[in-house]
Amino acid sequence: FKDNESLEGLVKELNDNGVNVITGSLDQLVNWGRSNSLWSLTFATSCCGIEFMAVGCARYDFARFGFEVCRNSPRQADLIMCAGTITHKMAPVFKRLYDQMAEPKYVVAVGGCAISGGPFKSSYHVVKGIGEIVPVDVYVPGCPPRPEAILYGMMQLQRKIKVQKFFGGANRKEKKPIVVTDVP
Ligand code: SF4
Repeated sequence: FKDNESLEGLVKELNDNGVNVITGSLDQLVNWGRSNSLWSLTFATSCCGIEFMAVGCARYDFARFGFEVCRNSPRQADLIMCAGTITHKMAPVFKRLYDQMAEPKYVVAVGGCAISGGPFKSSYHVVKGIGEIVPVDVYVPGCPPRPEAILYGMMQLQRKIKVQKFFGGANRKEKKPIVVTDVP
C-alpha cells in the first residue's frame, strides 16, 4: 500500500468499480471449515450413547451441521462426545484415546455420568466427571439429555470454535467450558 491507502479504502474502491472483494482473517476461514466438519470419535459407554445414536439418525440428523462422520480411530477424530459412565478402570483408556487425537481436539461431556458421575457418583468405581481426566469444552446435562440438548451442545461447540485464534492468538485451553442450560 501507499502511505495514504488503507485496506478498507482499497476494498471499497475495488467494490465500487465492480470487482467483488470479501475480506476476512485466516482464523475465520480455518474456523469456518473446522466448525462445519467435526468428526467425532465413536465413544459411548452406556445409556447416554443410545441418545447420541438417535442424534445421528434421520429425525435429528446431526449431518446437517457437519457432524456426519463418526470415526473409530482417534487419529481421524476431532472430537470425543463422551456419552456414558466412565469407571476408574476405563479412565486410562479414555485418556489414551484423547492423547492419540491430533490438535485441535475437543471434548463434549454428554449426560450426568460424564459430567459428575451422575447417579453413580457416590460409588467407589466411577470417575466423578471426565473433567478430572481431560479438558472439557461443552457440558450437556441430563440423565440422559434429550437429542435436542445434545444437538444444541454440538452447536455451542461450533460457536466456540468460530471465535478461536490459532494464528498468534490465545491457547484454546484457557477458554472456559460451555454448560448447556437453555435448550430452545
Ligand atoms: Fe445412563 Fe443417566 Fe449416566 Fe446417561 S447420565 S449414562 S442416562 S445413568
